[in-house]
Amino acid sequence: KQTSPAQSEFYQAVEEVLESLEPLFAKTTNYQKEAIIERMVEPERQLMFRVPWVDDEGNIQVNKGYRIEFSSTLGPYKGGLRFHPSVNASIIKFLGFEQVFKNSLTGLPIGGGKGGANFDPKGRSDGEIMRFCQSFMNELYRHIGPTTDVPAGDIGVGAREIGYLFGQYKRLTGRYDGVLTGKSLMWGGSLVRKEATGYGAVYFANYMLQNRDDSLAGKRCLISGSGNVAIYAMEKLYQLNAKPITCSDSRGTLFHDAGIDLTLIKELKEQQRGCLSKYKESYPEATYIARADYPEDGHAVWRFKADAAFPCATQNELTQGDAKALLSNGCILVSEGANMPSTKDAIDCFIKAKIAYGPGKAANAGGVATSQLEMAQNASMQSWTFEEVDAKLQHIMKNIFNIANETAAEFGQPTNLLLGANIAGFRRVADAMIEQGVV
Ligand code: NDP
Repeated sequence: KQTSPAQSEFYQAVEEVLESLEPLFAKTTNYQKEAIIERMVEPERQLMFRVPWVDDEGNIQVNKGYRIEFSSTLGPYKGGLRFHPSVNASIIKFLGFEQVFKNSLTGLPIGGGKGGANFDPKGRSDGEIMRFCQSFMNELYRHIGPTTDVPAGDIGVGAREIGYLFGQYKRLTGRYDGVLTGKSLMWGGSLVRKEATGYGAVYFANYMLQNRDDSLAGKRCLISGSGNVAIYAMEKLYQLNAKPITCSDSRGTLFHDAGIDLTLIKELKEQQRGCLSKYKESYPEATYIARADYPEDGHAVWRFKADAAFPCATQNELTQGDAKALLSNGCILVSEGANMPSTKDAIDCFIKAKIAYGPGKAANAGGVATSQLEMAQNASMQSWTFEEVDAKLQHIMKNIFNIANETAAEFGQPTNLLLGANIAGFRRVADAMIEQGVV
């Protein structure tokens, strides 16, 4: 902490995990605690690079690019790329650290990594996005490969960006291999990958409720975000007869008591890449709350009365004030589609109240798990059907729930899936690290 005090998100992620591991270290002497932790919190490799590109006006722009190869203990580095102006080393490190545990929980052979750039895609033309992606890949290509490091999408990186990145990788290397996931279905992508994180977070929520003799059917649900994860979480909620009544973006929050019109949201966000406030042109009865009018201690989206909450936008978007509002409004479930969306104080409220709380590294692991299924299809030159991939996704999410749930019970805190997920994720990586020696 003293050597790099600026990395607050990274310390937050590490502290959360280390606190959960205390009962494990108290119970077993299998691990040399300091030695294993010291290796786990230090990425194997951190790359930072310049990304110069030319905008539509002919100006030279320069962004900072990152790829943090955190752990290759369980397989090739695997984790997304984020393009957002807030990106810095702390954010990429926290995401990479989380990814190691998440990937471990899937049971699949994937290590952990994360990358991105402080590039803001908002308002940029397709040509500018393409030139930025090409420049980003001009450095990244020498560090990635289908059996070494396989990036995917994250905030600001969807099918369009993956396409431009892949095209440049192919041009630079002359190779057509599964070096990126989240590819278009026309040229190597996997069915269900687009939907996987959102669907997975909802499957996870349903397993949590089934374990409490309940289900999602009939539940009113709050969603934050309106990007890839949020949209497909809403889609699956409707399929399971639940009702999403909110969504949000970086500018504001939308509330529609009758249920969010998902077709319209897809049109506004996936096609037009526009603003949620336009929704009211079609539904004047809906409520739109601009960011400037959010409560001082949190986010407007969590202040509506509902049974369940799905944070699907970004880190630290659900505060202690929000958690208290959710609980006093009768919320019984929180399933995190985003990475580290709840602050430490908010999580403490959920754990204390013993509601069904699914931490991101468990609840949103469906995306990376399906990315690994895309890698498997690419490597074996196969394409599986939607039903096949979806069945595998459900099976993986069920296994993640089971292992987190069983581990929580093993340590005497049966409803604490944060503890269960952190210990279970840690054990697989730590045991494998020990077997592989001091490397
Ligand atoms: P998208 O870029 O598709 O969507 C992000 C959404 O969150 C947008 O609605 C965006 O608003 C909003 N948002 C982003 N940053 C902020 C911010 N600082 N404040 C308020 N709103 C914000 O990203 P994804 O849906 O892919 O990712 C969402 C979350 O899910 C992230 O935490 C990501 O790490 C996590 N995740 C994603 C996976 C995936 O497969 N895509 C896998 C696992 C986790 P706007 O439209 O205004 O930009």
